[in-house]
Amino acid sequence: ERDWRIFREDYNISIKGGKVPNPIRKWKESGISRDILEIIDKVGYREPTPIQRQAIPIGLQNRDIIGVAETGSGKTLAFLIPLLVWIRSLPKMTLIEDQDQGPYAIIMAPTRELAQQIEEESNKFGSPLGIRTVAVIGGLSREDQGFKLRLGCEIVIATPGRLIDVLENRYLVLSRCVYIVLDEADRMIDMGFEPEVCTGFGVQKILEHMPVSNAKPDTDQAEDEDHLLENFKSKHR
Ligand code: ADP
Ligand code: MG
Repeated sequence: ERDWRIFREDYNISIKGGKVPNPIRKWKESGISRDILEIIDKVGYREPTPIQRQAIPIGLQNRDIIGVAETGSGKTLAFLIPLLVWIRSLPKMTLIEDQDQGPYAIIMAPTRELAQQIEEESNKFGSPLGIRTVAVIGGLSREDQGFKLRLGCEIVIATPGRLIDVLENRYLVLSRCVYIVLDEADRMIDMGFEPEVCTGFGVQKILEHMPVSNAKPDTDQAEDEDHLLENFKSKHR
């Protein structure tokens, strides 16, 4: 315990929440599957960044997490790796047979540019594994995006407005989507997407399209999360 406390101090990692798993010392000891480790190696990321050290093991346990770290600290991979590992763990047949049921995961980002950066990273790591990513963003043809969605994908990266749009127009179904990432949630709130990000209209609407009723709430965690979210919102206002 003491060693882990020192390790976290060294990397400036602070944690809050129940039963937080130990951070990653080395990629190889992270429990990330071999195929993904090989891609990390090829891309040349020799060490995980601090947010990756702590967020990835939490993500690998399929737990909810709010992560905060400065720009350029590798947050994209911190949420992408657990997602890719999880998709990889699904039975292969599911991937092929049920593609008209839409993606397994939605990643929301405040701007087109950001969404496209995430798409790039997701393809860099996902494509070699056969995991398909489609960007659903404003400014490009909705029909083109609808066409790509119909071909099937595992991950959708979306800006809030266009996401609601394609859901309402049934270009996108979320009947097997059980995973949601809100990248730069603070910025989405600042830009006035709060209803989409937090309550009511947007995320509520998105969640309604998801089979979340099947999800088991983690009671250990629920209280911590309410607290975290309040804290996060007050800090970023
Ligand atoms: P953030 O979202 O925290 O601002 P990004 O995820 O965009 O940061 O990552 C910033 C840059 O760092 C990207 O170019 C990314 O490819 C690179 N990067 C991510 N993880 C690592 C790593 N473990 N080692 C080296 N570079 C990394
Ligand atoms: Mg980022």
